[in-house]
Amino acid sequence: SYGDRLVVDLYLSKVKEYKPVKQINSSGGKRDVIVVIDPGHGGEDPGAIGPGKVREKNVVLSISKELARQINAVKGYRAYLTRESDYFIGLRKRTEIARKRNADLFVSVHADAFTRPQANGASVFALSKKGASSEAARWLAKRENASDLIGGSGVNLGDHDDMLASVLLDLSSTASLRASLSVGDRVLQSLGGVARLHKRQVEQAGFMVLKSPDIPSILVETGFISNPTESRRLNTRSYQRKIAGSISKGVKSYFSDQPPIGTWLASNQSKSGSSYTVKKGDTLSQIAHNNA
Ligand SMILES: [Zn+2]
Repeated sequence: SYGDRLVVDLYLSKVKEYKPVKQINSSGGKRDVIVVIDPGHGGEDPGAIGPGKVREKNVVLSISKELARQINAVKGYRAYLTRESDYFIGLRKRTEIARKRNADLFVSVHADAFTRPQANGASVFALSKKGASSEAARWLAKRENASDLIGGSGVNLGDHDDMLASVLLDLSSTASLRASLSVGDRVLQSLGGVARLHKRQVEQAGFMVLKSPDIPSILVETGFISNPTESRRLNTRSYQRKIAGSISKGVKSYFSDQPPIGTWLASNQSKSGSSYTVKKGDTLSQIAHNNA
């Protein structure tokens, strides 16, 4: 729609200079759970455009900011955004920001579009197996000049021979994918409380932003911007707040069950976990679960 043109992207130097987040902070010497929220599209890329010229890039930025606000209001959590206003940012750059922030979770926020205006509902995606293995091949191929890979575990792929590097990478991406499906399921259940769901299960696809082998990552399609009713709703503050609230509820539910080691949340959970009293009729697995 633009015709011939020359595009020059100017990046904020701030974006390039992200320092790894310190592991110790305000929560009494234990680190926070880090959630990096990624509002899809931005700048010259409007994403999907709905009836009444509702633009996906604006809707998802509002929802993401609200989500960050809600997560930051909870002790033991810290949220960061990959973009804070209306500018373009590449897909690889988004995952790079998550890695530099030492993210425990990456959540990309989008709104769907389809040719039929009737299509509606929210959905949640994790990476497909095929997407994971093609990415693993890419990491192995370029590992000589990539020293900070598998950031959180401190494993440097370049230090190991081919076989060991590929096993380590495989273990890491299998664990990340399992965590992505699990957190995705919590978010989907929670979304079901405020929105119609497009699919009842977490779907899997090869989205580029989900390809970090070391960071659990999900993509939330908050609804269909091509559907007149949903588009109108997605453009209101109150509905954006509801959607953000249900995503944050799903995320918190996942992390309170599986707090990452070394976090304030983990040290807090273990104290309360040991106080579970066995009740008559409890199965062995219930007891094990409550004491975990
Ligand atoms: Zn999108």
